[in-house]
Amino acid sequence: MQTNSLESLWLPFTANRQYQAAPRLVVAAEDMHYVTDDGRRVLDGTSGLWCVNAGHGRRPIVAAIQAQAARLDYAPAFQMGHPLEFTLAARLARLLPGDLDHVFFTNSGSEAVDTALKIALAYHRLRGEGGRTHLIGRERAYHGVGFGGLSVGGIGNNRKQFGPLLPGIGHLPHTHDLDRNAFSRGQPAWGAHLADALERLVATHDASTIAAVIVEPLAGSTGVLVPPQGYLERLRAICDKHGILLIFDEVITGFGRLGAAFAAERLGVQPDLMTMAKGLTNGAVPMGAVAVRGAIHQTFMQGPPAAIELLHGYTYSGHPLACAAGLATLDVYAEEDLFARARGLEPLWQDAVHGLRGLPHVVDVRNLGLVAGIELEPRPDSPGSRGYEVYLRCWDAGVLVRQTGDIIALSPPLIVSESQIAEMVGGLAAAIREVA
Ligand code: PLP
Repeated sequence: MQTNSLESLWLPFTANRQYQAAPRLVVAAEDMHYVTDDGRRVLDGTSGLWCVNAGHGRRPIVAAIQAQAARLDYAPAFQMGHPLEFTLAARLARLLPGDLDHVFFTNSGSEAVDTALKIALAYHRLRGEGGRTHLIGRERAYHGVGFGGLSVGGIGNNRKQFGPLLPGIGHLPHTHDLDRNAFSRGQPAWGAHLADALERLVATHDASTIAAVIVEPLAGSTGVLVPPQGYLERLRAICDKHGILLIFDEVITGFGRLGAAFAAERLGVQPDLMTMAKGLTNGAVPMGAVAVRGAIHQTFMQGPPAAIELLHGYTYSGHPLACAAGLATLDVYAEEDLFARARGLEPLWQDAVHGLRGLPHVVDVRNLGLVAGIELEPRPDSPGSRGYEVYLRCWDAGVLVRQTGDIIALSPPLIVSESQIAEMVGGLAAAIREVA
């Protein structure tokens, strides 16, 4: 493929000038591999951006999108529907844990997060508790880039360019502690009490002002922070005590990443709302969604039948191509039992990634499901540079890893074979050894 100029495109979350000096281009993908513009095969250790959970170019998904494009390209999203969006919502409701049984479609994780926050605010208002306007996020959280998600998000670098963001936001402490939890296998033992910070926020602001708490069950983008044992349970209990809604942002953890359909199921904690995206369509067509508990949905269905219950939505909510991709994706997950496959691979995966312990500059290895974070000691004068060099070495050696500062994240498609795990971790080990 000929790319005449790299000039016109502004790439997201990218050092554009650095990228243009040495561009990386992929032109095709199949199963576990990308193909670059110069014909190299690269093993995908990150499911693209945590989204291609069933592997690339899966035929049934491709065929479903092609057929749907030919049958119904677009249907107005407001005051009209098309069959696939109802079918997909019903399928999701069956897959979702507990009474999360109503689904609102968006086009991305960011939109799902902003939608969930708006539903939480509107829900309390409908119940006569319109004073509940505070939204609580967590340090180091990533909830996308909308003003809502950015406001509850906790990655300082992502926020600092954009002014004061939303008012009335609080943040819980993050759960990462290298002194206590480094090299934990699975959920770390220390840290459940960090959820008690929510009680302090309640004491400061009063429960009657707090609408919702949003957390990633496992924080992915910030560099894989695994929830301490008992932490999410404690957060759930405090939310219940004070009538605060608990939102799980499962944009990364959904669809098998943690060895179950959702983290809520794997970790046994039920949220009131859940956001999802990415693996929902295996990354093939953009789509996000918010699932809400039946009782929350019911609260909106009380007014006059002619009144619009939620004044919110997107031109492309429930887009036919996305729904076709979503339904075919759920079929692939089910037919190949991929969530259970991920769970079955977890012990081997855990052993493989913890084999990196002891390599130069490796200060932590952590894992849950088919996710791992490998933290490197930052260079005192240039934090992030070591991680970036490791990422580049891996790419040159034919393995795609994800780098956040000096943390390397791995999250391969759930179809990864045992030998590919060895190749992936081996490639990363070699890169870590080579980078001083
Ligand atoms: N929430 C979480 C937990 C995410 O990890 C992401 C993206 O990585 C988002 C929200 C934003 O999703 P999107 O990039 O589709 O807007």
